Amino acid sequence: MDFSHLNKASAKSFNEQKALLKKLSKGQTVLCKHCNQPVQLDLKVAEGTKGSAHCAKGCTHIELDLM
Ligand SMILES: [Zn+2]
Repeated sequence: MDFSHLNKASAKSFNEQKALLKKLSKGQTVLCKHCNQPVQLDLKVAEGTKGSAHCAKGCTHIELDLM
């Protein structure tokens, strides 16, 4: 089996998510690719849980341990 194609795809989306979080952390507005709603950076989470970046509908949801 050849998984190189799969690995490439996930590396690409990982880099996209990192780039998205970078923009958000600079205060830039990023729109969700799927619903076109602004992606919100949510850092007000309970202790021990991770912050996340997500859109209103939830089709974009990125945990902040990527940063
Ligand atoms: Zn969305």
